[in-house]
Amino acid sequence: MHERYGSKTIFELHKPGCQSVRWPACDVPCNEIAELIPEEYLRHEVPSLPEVAEPDLVRHLSILAARNMCVDSHFYPLGSCTMKYNPKRHERWAQLVEFTHLHPYQPEESIQGLLALLYSLQQMLSEIAGLDAVSLHPAAGAQGELTALLMAAAYFRSRGEARRHVLVPDVAHGTNPASAKMAGFEVVQIRSSPAGIADPEILAEHLGPSTAVLMITNPNTLGLFEKEIVRLCQMVHQAGGLVYLDGANMNAICGIAQPGKFGIDMMHFNTHKTFSTPHGSGGPGAGPVAVTAKLAPFLPVPVVVYEDGRYRLDYDRPLSIGRVRSFLGNVGVLIRAYCYLRTVGAAGLKQVAELAVLNANYLLHKVGKLLPVPYGQRCMHEFVASAAKVKAERSISAMDIAKRLLDYGFHAPTVYFPLVVREALMIEPTETENKETLDAFSAAIEAILREPAELLHEAPHHMPVSRPDEVRAAREPILVWRE
Ligand SMILES: *Cc1c(COP(=O)(O)O)cnc(C)c1O
Repeated sequence: MHERYGSKTIFELHKPGCQSVRWPACDVPCNEIAELIPEEYLRHEVPSLPEVAEPDLVRHLSILAARNMCVDSHFYPLGSCTMKYNPKRHERWAQLVEFTHLHPYQPEESIQGLLALLYSLQQMLSEIAGLDAVSLHPAAGAQGELTALLMAAAYFRSRGEARRHVLVPDVAHGTNPASAKMAGFEVVQIRSSPAGIADPEILAEHLGPSTAVLMITNPNTLGLFEKEIVRLCQMVHQAGGLVYLDGANMNAICGIAQPGKFGIDMMHFNTHKTFSTPHGSGGPGAGPVAVTAKLAPFLPVPVVVYEDGRYRLDYDRPLSIGRVRSFLGNVGVLIRAYCYLRTVGAAGLKQVAELAVLNANYLLHKVGKLLPVPYGQRCMHEFVASAAKVKAERSISAMDIAKRLLDYGFHAPTVYFPLVVREALMIEPTETENKETLDAFSAAIEAILREPAELLHEAPHHMPVSRPDEVRAAREPILVWRE
């Protein structure tokens, strides 16, 4: 394609007078705009928008879109984020006009089909969790955490207990302590054992009358199963606290182990990760929470219920923490999760987990020969390799490897998380990748590690931008046209 597209900004393609649409002259009576809109809301200058012809616009945007790395174009082993392939037929179903043309204020009688779907999704999630009740409202995993912690706070208030501390392992995702703080608790970090999992003896040092909640991720962010989970739950319960499961890693165990059976009291799902929905660049998502019967009265309103042959939105829940999200949650994402679960079925869901774990272990076996994996000979759905040794010996960092992988046509893994691994590369292949892709990825790492450090320090070499200041690029993006 001619280099005019893509290599220039849309503002540089601007040609005064160029238009994509030409309107015919108006043949009905017109009002002056000033008669219709108050003066204070009117523009007095023409906005400086680029003027381009429609084919130029389409080519420009298509070329830029093709430069973006996404699950549909590239292997995307971004640990913790579960960037699995998203079935296209679920997109079609979520876009049925029977869903998209609904209005959030329509009466319940006229949205029985949607309510049936949401009710059924609540039931399925409740079964996968092994817990009694579900709210579909939270718009993301992090909001699910906040919702559950607000429920925990309401639960302790209802019992007249002042419990302040939320215990969070040192390998937890950053949203865990942030949610605890936002819900008004104090965060206490608990260190992991040398094996990279939570240790009952270390937990015991922190338990007491002010313990509110233990937030734990299982499998954890090192890709390790928390083997002591049953004992940990018993200990927290004995101290009068609750256990919260961060369910972001459910793809490793769904259909195999029900977290409710570990003894947890509440959890969230990241439906956009585990049950698919394209969720790059921070959205969209859904973070339903599942809880035990004793916490159910505190769920956000409304809850979808089924009574006397019809579905109803139940607002009459006096202990509810109230609303956490407008209307019924991110319904488009929930529809995709429903479609995913109905497509794979119970047996398929178990196979999803088995293949996610098999793929991760296959890749661990190959990558582990190239870079040390400090925790675990075996992993669940992901593993964390370390570039600390190549950094010390050859000054090649995790960032250098991640950036150079882009040149080889792979999205970078998650880097520098979890914090307990130095120069961390957190790799999650997901179950939707085949052996050839996994082999090619490990071959790329092998090739990169043979390259000169100077070349790697300036990678990527074949991308439109090489090493932007990532913090500034995110916080101060340049979105205006400066002539
Ligand atoms: C992704 C993730 C979260 C946060 O979920 P969002 O849906 O992005 O808000 C929390 N914990 C873990 C372990 C995660 O991977």
